[in-house]
Amino acid sequence: MSRTKRGCLFCGIIAGVEPGRIRASRERFTIIDDLYPEYNHTLALPNEHIENASTLTKEDIPLLLQMAESSLDVLRAQYGTALDESQVVMGYHWPPFNSQSHLHLHLLYPTSEFSFLHKLRFLPRSPWFIRHSDLISRLEKSS
Ligand SMILES: [Zn+2]
Ligand SMILES: [Zn+2]
Repeated sequence: MSRTKRGCLFCGIIAGVEPGRIRASRERFTIIDDLYPEYNHTLALPNEHIENASTLTKEDIPLLLQMAESSLDVLRAQYGTALDESQVVMGYHWPPFNSQSHLHLHLLYPTSEFSFLHKLRFLPRSPWFIRHSDLISRLEKSS
């Protein structure tokens, strides 16, 4: 059984008690449409409530890799051969800059259509957003 947190919006969406558009349900995670549709992307949520990316360890790497692969599968199913994977960005908020205190992998696409503010928030390597691949290498180096 997964551990959930009372009052957490994402735990509620996973449990089906809060509205959300679920794109894929897996044993350990759920993929939903982002709450802000103009972003045109998905969120991958661990079914177990994990506060944020800084609490992750090496043992979480397989889960994160599966979340990223499934997020890409959802995008591939949606766009087919029109998909340009060079315009995909995947990453996590870094505390204390979380929008929701339930870990979520953002998949953003296509980067060429981002607004200026959207670019500022998600594209640079920054103190508030860590790329999926950067987080994986960071966890691999941790003991
Ligand atoms: Zn939660
Ligand atoms: Zn977010």
